[in-house]
Amino acid sequence: MRAVINLTVHGIGSRTGRTLEPDEGATWVDVERFEQVLDAVAGRPDVRLTFDDGNASDLDTALPRLLERGLTAEFHVLAGRLGEPGRLTADGVRELAKSGMTIGSHGWAHRDWRRLTAAQVTEEHVHAHRVLEDITGEPVTRVAVPFGSYDRHVLRRLRRAAVARVYTSDGGPARPDAWLQPRTSLRHDLDDAWIARVLAPSAPALRLRRTAARLVKRTRGR
Ligand SMILES: [Zn+2]
Repeated sequence: MRAVINLTVHGIGSRTGRTLEPDEGATWVDVERFEQVLDAVAGRPDVRLTFDDGNASDLDTALPRLLERGLTAEFHVLAGRLGEPGRLTADGVRELAKSGMTIGSHGWAHRDWRRLTAAQVTEEHVHAHRVLEDITGEPVTRVAVPFGSYDRHVLRRLRRAAVARVYTSDGGPARPDAWLQPRTSLRHDLDDAWIARVLAPSAPALRLRRTAARLVKRTRGR
């Protein structure tokens, strides 16, 4: 079975429309670089595109460029932030879904899922799904873990919520049908060498190292 490469896009462009969270700027990319990545991904069925955080640039910048190239992607939205400045609105999410994109959950309020109160667990894993399902009319079966922060407790909750696919930020290639899908995030300083390296056929040494890291996260408690 051929491995897949999962990419994560956050914000695109220079106008964010909101105050960024600490370290968030490191993941924003300019439009030209984003287009270069899309051009490199077009015609590569072994590369999957995912978008996190529900930024307005998902709709304004990413969607037309995806459609131009015949690409589809999964958008992991923050259900509790819809309609805030710089974020997608409910109508924007509906538009993405109508355009053939998949809508997944990035939770409610961009919290670390390893550090939730009982009330927050309900918001992040139950309420967020309901809100998105009401908008699109489709079940939410995929999630992207905020900050890539998970442990065995988080994974148990996601299994209980009947999530069919979990995207992390562990990097490296993935088995196409695995429940836990590592991803590699675009960075603000990505260049041609980054594109060539990340989209190159998987390197076995890298794969082994990443697998060891995943095992630690999967089994750790708090
Ligand atoms: Zn995020």
